[in-house]
Amino acid sequence: MSKTKYVYSFGGGKADGKADMKNLLGGKGANLAEMASLGIPVPAGFTLTTEVCTYYYDNNRKYPSTLAAEVDKAMAKVEKTMRTKFGDPKDPLLVSVRSGARSSMPGMMETVLNCGLCSATIPGLIKKTGNPRFVYDAYRRLIMMYSDVVMEKAAGIEPAEGQGIRQQLDRILEKVKEKGGYASDAEIPAEKLEKLCDRFKAKVKQVLGKDFPDDPKKQLWGGIGAVFSSWNGRRAVSYRRIEGIPDDWGTAVNVQAMVFGNMGDDSATGVAFTRNPATGENKFYGEWLVNAQGEDVVAGIRTPNPLNEDTKNEQNEHLPSLEVAMPEVYKELFAIRNQLEKRYTDMQDIEFTIQNGRLWMLQTRVGKRTGTAALNMAMDMLKEKLIDKPTAVLRVKPEQLDELLHPIVDPKAEAKADLIAKGLPAGPGGAAGQIVFSADAAVKWTRQGKTVLLVREETNPEDVEGMRAAVGILTGRGGMTSHAALVARGWGKCCIVGAGALDIDVVGKTIKVDGRTFKEGDVLTLNGTRGLVYVGQLDMIDATENPRFVDFMKLADRIRAMKVRTNAETPEDARTAIDFGAEGIGLFRTEHMFYGKGSEQPLFILRKMIMAGSESERRKILKELYPFVKRDMKETLEVMGSRPVTFRLLDPPLHEFVPQNETERKELAKALGVSVEELDRRADELHELNPMMGHRGVRLGITFPEISEMQFRAILESAAEIRKDGGKCFPEIMVPVTCAKEELDVQLASARRIHAEVCKKYGVKKVEHLYGTMIEIPRAALTAGEIAKTCEFFSFGTNDLTQMTFGFSRDDIGGFLPDYLDKKILAVDPFQVLDRDSVGELVKTGIDRGRATRPDLKVGICGEHGGEPNSVEFCHLVGMNYVSCSPFRVPIARLAAAQAQINHPRK
Ligand code: PEP
Ligand code: MG
Repeated sequence: MSKTKYVYSFGGGKADGKADMKNLLGGKGANLAEMASLGIPVPAGFTLTTEVCTYYYDNNRKYPSTLAAEVDKAMAKVEKTMRTKFGDPKDPLLVSVRSGARSSMPGMMETVLNCGLCSATIPGLIKKTGNPRFVYDAYRRLIMMYSDVVMEKAAGIEPAEGQGIRQQLDRILEKVKEKGGYASDAEIPAEKLEKLCDRFKAKVKQVLGKDFPDDPKKQLWGGIGAVFSSWNGRRAVSYRRIEGIPDDWGTAVNVQAMVFGNMGDDSATGVAFTRNPATGENKFYGEWLVNAQGEDVVAGIRTPNPLNEDTKNEQNEHLPSLEVAMPEVYKELFAIRNQLEKRYTDMQDIEFTIQNGRLWMLQTRVGKRTGTAALNMAMDMLKEKLIDKPTAVLRVKPEQLDELLHPIVDPKAEAKADLIAKGLPAGPGGAAGQIVFSADAAVKWTRQGKTVLLVREETNPEDVEGMRAAVGILTGRGGMTSHAALVARGWGKCCIVGAGALDIDVVGKTIKVDGRTFKEGDVLTLNGTRGLVYVGQLDMIDATENPRFVDFMKLADRIRAMKVRTNAETPEDARTAIDFGAEGIGLFRTEHMFYGKGSEQPLFILRKMIMAGSESERRKILKELYPFVKRDMKETLEVMGSRPVTFRLLDPPLHEFVPQNETERKELAKALGVSVEELDRRADELHELNPMMGHRGVRLGITFPEISEMQFRAILESAAEIRKDGGKCFPEIMVPVTCAKEELDVQLASARRIHAEVCKKYGVKKVEHLYGTMIEIPRAALTAGEIAKTCEFFSFGTNDLTQMTFGFSRDDIGGFLPDYLDKKILAVDPFQVLDRDSVGELVKTGIDRGRATRPDLKVGICGEHGGEPNSVEFCHLVGMNYVSCSPFRVPIARLAAAQAQINHPRK
């Protein structure tokens, strides 16, 4: 039996792995291997595969028995390429230990840099570099990181806010700077740093009760273990939940020779995007810091310099660009940028380090971007012939469209607003809310139904849950490439970082600026597109439709196999939906006309009808109601023209419409000529213990055929009149909450009778329409073969179908769903994402059995899932003709349908 290979080497112009081995090597490892093979300068290293991680968790945190030997062998290769030795007292090799999952999880897992520094190797490195300052600086970083990541976090210690070992060491460092009057870390002299390292080690021992390890190998394995255990750290788990990344993927670990950006003024470190990740502009965009290590850029501690002259902004225009400071290196980096874009045909997010004037690439990966940037890059790259049309369509996530149609701060309101600070525009759109100062508060307040902005001093990936909960994020420090900015941008969340004028005190929960103080709960507005912070709540407007968006959607429309309809019941909504690209109405909920504006009169009549004492009285009142119902139906049909409109018969339990307040009951009793006591009695009769499974949907039509008849007449007469006037329309009559073919037969007989009457009245032979049903009860799905004998179309009502399948009430799932998600009983809310295993099986069975009876059966979906990308893909896979969703989700569904066709072509 061949042994599993757990360690893959790279460096020196060759590599064991390559870019398409992400599942095994993680994104970072696969791309390092690829860069090494492309001849791009990459410090040598090796990757411990994701299989090691899986093994580690499956075997009680133990490693495969062959791993240590493989690591030793790979380390020997690195030593050979880099011509130094790990742990060698004369010429020591230092390594970094970093995570690298299949799908990037920026800042969510741990890293340890400078492993290999200890009392035995420090003198050698000082001798070699002639730079004791550098060596002690690297050492103090190792102590900080290692004690935090390995000795605290990986050991499961959870210190109080502000009491983490890293923060405690940070405070010592700040004191040294303050006392010596040093403006930055770089100014602290070597002797002071050496002493600082001793103080750090003493503090570590005092706080954590253990010595800082003085053995390179111990440090290496401590680092590896910490990275693997950070896969199950709190923030990584939260991030995975939000991003839908499976827990069993595991992370790889990359061990790589250190190169140093903090070796003096000819050294530097930086992060860059091959194009602007916020706007998509085709300009090389990034940030760098001289004499620093990578974490300084992403941690947002110093405001970084701009990469080139072209992309300077208000915050960094006074700082030197790399293009000017190190022109040769910039040129080389720019060439690598072009090489990488060509190789990956997508925007890359890269990390680099310059050590004594020599450029090293540390990472490349597909860069996260805003929705706007995704759209612009897709259309630009298509034009540049870097990608083809289907690839362009796949480049924008359907959810990102939401953000393109996002509200922005109304410029008119903004012109008059009270501006308190400027920061970097890290995430787009506008957001207003009450300020809170911790991730926990953001989550808690949001749960209470409040709208909050999360305010933090600096960007910290541990805030991920709070960032998710808040509508916007504001920080005092940090750059555009800081982790929080990346994460917010990936979500399309409004975010401003580095608003330096704000004095943010997260403990006292205040923001001070220009002599003013804002407290927790005060309201601010953020313009995340421009980086502006305002006092109070400003109005928002919808971003205007951008022509590139229209072109992009045309590309998608040409590809998709399913139609996209909308759920709408007013002519206005129908118009909005047409603007969003709806090709019909998949669900007109008749009862909605009794809720909205101008509904008082029809609602009163409806209530009278419900409370009527006899069929003849009810028929009389239905005649009064008729003109209102017909008016709404006819106007909607007119707006939709030749597009189909599915009218669903009245669905909800009647008692929902019974007035609760006394005055209204009195009025109703008066109109019916009965006593209030009699009215109360009739209302009590309608009361049901379990109304969702009660007298609703088609059951109403069975008990009160006259109610269905009135609606059949309204639909058919509207259509007859429109056609007589030369117009076009296409109504579909849909019966809800069906469980048996016989129900549909009874209703169909009555529909036919009314049809004959309407034809006679208008002197026509036929009023063209379809007759169909909703499939929203498991029995209906299972007996679909029978039902299709009567019906010409099915529309899956997956809201009720999910309710009935899970036995979860769709109205109060909030009471227990969070527990189900926390305990991983469910991965997602089944009312949002269609559960393929259960509801999906019923849908598939329904379609298959229905089409076995009637091959041309038209099938759609009108539950909320019709606008959710994963569910839309499912609808495509099971062969639906269309999906129907709320007007604002129509573009999302159009794109999701196109992507489904690209990924799973259907004839
Ligand atoms: C459904 O049940 O999925 C549906 C669309 O109907 P309603 O939400 O009106 O019950
Ligand atoms: Mg329903």
